Amino acid sequence: MKNYDAIIIGAGAAGLMCAISAASRNKRVLVLEHARKVGRKILMSGGGRCNFTNMYTEPDNFLSHNPHFCKSALSQYTQWDFIDLVQRYNVPYHEKTLGQLFCDHSSKDIVNLLLQECQRLNVDIQTGVKVTSITRAVNFKVTAGAETLESAAVVIATGGLSIPSMGPHGFGYQVAEEFGLPLIKQQAALVPFVMNSRWQNAFVDLAGSSLNVTASNSQASFQEGMLFTHKGLSGPAILQISSYWKPGESVTIDCLPGVNVQQMLLEARQENPNQQLKTWLAKLTTKRMAEVMCRNWFQDERLQNLSNKDVQSIHEKLTHLTVYPESTEGYKTAEVTLGGVDTAVLSSKSMMVRDIPGLYFIGEVVDVTGHLGGFNFQWAWSSGWAAGQAID
Ligand SMILES: Cc1cc2nc3c(=O)[nH]c(=O)nc-3n(C[C@H](O)[C@H](O)[C@H](O)COP(=O)(O)OP(=O)(O)OC[C@H]3O[C@@H](n4cnc5c(N)ncnc54)[C@H](O)[C@@H]3O)c2cc1C
Repeated sequence: MKNYDAIIIGAGAAGLMCAISAASRNKRVLVLEHARKVGRKILMSGGGRCNFTNMYTEPDNFLSHNPHFCKSALSQYTQWDFIDLVQRYNVPYHEKTLGQLFCDHSSKDIVNLLLQECQRLNVDIQTGVKVTSITRAVNFKVTAGAETLESAAVVIATGGLSIPSMGPHGFGYQVAEEFGLPLIKQQAALVPFVMNSRWQNAFVDLAGSSLNVTASNSQASFQEGMLFTHKGLSGPAILQISSYWKPGESVTIDCLPGVNVQQMLLEARQENPNQQLKTWLAKLTTKRMAEVMCRNWFQDERLQNLSNKDVQSIHEKLTHLTVYPESTEGYKTAEVTLGGVDTAVLSSKSMMVRDIPGLYFIGEVVDVTGHLGGFNFQWAWSSGWAAGQAID
């Protein structure tokens, strides 16, 4: 049997990048992947066009119990390093918004690029192999089916818990527990909110409509699109704030960011006293939204009939709407998993468990979670690269 310097468990973004990084230093690397295909999440990401990084990546774009932990890996392999790789393979891409880079054609371009790099560097990849246990004697013993492989280094790149239909999840957390490593509680993140049935009935006519909003809580604030769904609320602003939300907490939504509703409404009352509130609101939102808002929140009066107190309360409702999500849609639709292997036990430079030489954790399985917008792939590339540079 061939000897390997490292066995990497999981051929997702982090595992493949780690293999490339280690193999570029002439390390002999084996990647074991449970699924038949590698990089399945890359393929499904970004609506099939993979938002592979973000030009404005900064440590502030990541959540972790230790907000400083991500800095070393992000500086060892930056967004510009990955962009350079994409350019070397002539993959056409574009900036969609806010520094988010997407493939022009297909996510397949990113998987193909990673596979070609692996091939060029003689990385062995075995798919359809589910690793069931990892133990340590002199070397690590990796059991997959009836076979047991040995290596001085093992890299856990098994991802998080989202999209359960994609197969077994949670192996990385299991390994951490078996080696006595602490875990930060996992939670679905970048995930739509489910609202209670009263809300669902009230806003059913808006399902599919979106609005630019600012969604905030005590920890964070995001100005992006919000989408009404049959179950509740989604869209980038909501997905972002969901990563900072805990059950029972509220979220505040400014439905008209940058608009001084009170002042505009007072002026409109003076200039167009006969105008209906609904007509005025429709100009700021859409006809349908104005209708639903008036049905649920306001009386559709002529503007001249609105008292100053009414104007003030319309302003409050539109700019400080407080919602109490009942729950989230959970891992079924979440883009990522918050929490994971506690960074306190990992070296931020190498991603290795400090007290267990040769055992590495990279990518989503670690307690580092990016905002929406290409940051999670950048974490996978950066943490994978850092580990690959450290493998002996
Ligand atoms: C719908 C969707 C869209 C997304 N879009 C974006 C986007 O556009 N931009 C962005 O930055 N992020 C996006 N993300 C998040 C991003 O996909 C993940 O953060 C990233 O894939 C994590 O990479 P990873 O390598 O750590 O884990 P994964 O990509 O999940 O890879 C883990 C691999 O390990 C394998 N594995 C697990 N257990 C075992 C085992 N026991 N034995 C062998 N193999 C095993 C799995 O089969 C899998 O292939 C999206 C996520 C989803 C769900």
